[in-house]
Amino acid sequence: MAKVLIIGAGGVGSVVAHKCAQVPEVFAEIVLASRTVSKCEAIAASIKERTGRRIEVARVDADQVPELVALINRVKPELVLNLALPYQDLTIMDACLECGVDYLDTANYEPPDEAKFSYSWQWPYHDRFKAKSLMALLGSGFDPGVTNVYAAYAAKHYFDEIHYIDILDANAGDHGHPFATNFNPEINIREVTAKGRYWEEGQWRETEPLSIKQSFDFPQIGPKNAYLMYHEELESLVKNIKGLKRIRFWMTFSDNYLKHLEVLQNVGMTAIEPVMFQGREIVPIQFLKALLPDPASLGPRTKGKTCIGNVMEGVKNGKPRKIYIYNVCDHEECYREVGSQAISYTTGVPAMIGAMMILRGHWKKAGVFNMEQLDPDPFMEELNLHGLPWEVRELPV
Ligand code: NDP
Repeated sequence: MAKVLIIGAGGVGSVVAHKCAQVPEVFAEIVLASRTVSKCEAIAASIKERTGRRIEVARVDADQVPELVALINRVKPELVLNLALPYQDLTIMDACLECGVDYLDTANYEPPDEAKFSYSWQWPYHDRFKAKSLMALLGSGFDPGVTNVYAAYAAKHYFDEIHYIDILDANAGDHGHPFATNFNPEINIREVTAKGRYWEEGQWRETEPLSIKQSFDFPQIGPKNAYLMYHEELESLVKNIKGLKRIRFWMTFSDNYLKHLEVLQNVGMTAIEPVMFQGREIVPIQFLKALLPDPASLGPRTKGKTCIGNVMEGVKNGKPRKIYIYNVCDHEECYREVGSQAISYTTGVPAMIGAMMILRGHWKKAGVFNMEQLDPDPFMEELNLHGLPWEVRELPV
């Protein structure tokens, strides 16, 4: 039975708080802190109504290490779950180190002034976490997160060697807005407008943004165009899955979404460099974020399903083999259960399970770890129990 501190009261933080509250035998006490305490209070009220449990709320600016240290020392949690933005990863890791507390997040660090997410900032914390016998679990969302665990599970049970991985992420949800992003618009648009990148035969190959596509027939959704993008789990999987020859990441976008994005890009609205406007500096993408629907408001309006999974090809007992492991999630069912759409849900459930893995001791280690470095079996079992059941299909080779 543990006490946890959740930081970030956005779409994902809300799901994590609700899901932790559903498992009182692991999460005995929950504290939710964010920059805007009213958001924490609204989530706490929803949890009280749905589960009867009370959680504590607090205000914190997670850019400030001393504020974080004061909060962690007051709360004394066993684990800090970081569901703020990637910009806060390092300050929260620093505070965890100072206070001697384990750490978990769902997205790797990205400097605010440069659209360049990478593990190169967080991996160097390994020795410091190890020296203090603390654990930092990185990328415990769906992708990264579950997709890493799918790869580890396939490597353990289905293959002697995996040679090819294609991660396919489809969102067939319809929220009825002409244009909206399913999670933080700034993070989402920065990711989508970046150059594509995949790894093949020992090297990274770069592609123009969204210039390569394939049609894929997604279970319970049907055929959709999926576009090659760079995604952060590729960086760790290349390092940790031995024998890999190629790994790529694909995401679906509707023609409507792409048309709007192209126009916004063409007029400069997705830029991250500040511009002067009426005597003050503004960052165009931050202004755009203020105009777009809040991702948290999409929950009640979104219908349809998501499907995320890995197609993996390799050899087992000298024979070629190809399998597909995936999950299908329904936006409306997620909303009924925790008041959020499926994108936040599919990220928040694995964050809760990752926390459970550490607190129950299944994954407790010293140092900084990516998901595929840990035993996939207990995590895969919990996915089936907590709302993200998975299927395995053998595919023709
Ligand atoms: P939101 O923008 O909805 O929520 C972010 C929250 O963090 C907000 O409540 C915000 O507070 C809070 N926050 C931001 N800055 C600070 C700060 N300095 N101090 C304290 N709190 C702060 O984002 P999401 O919930 O959609 O995403 C959360 C995380 O999940 C992101 O890192 C995102 O990249 C990651 N993610 C991971 C996925 C995966 O599969 N691995 C998929 C989707 C998202 P306030 O509202 O007061 O500003």
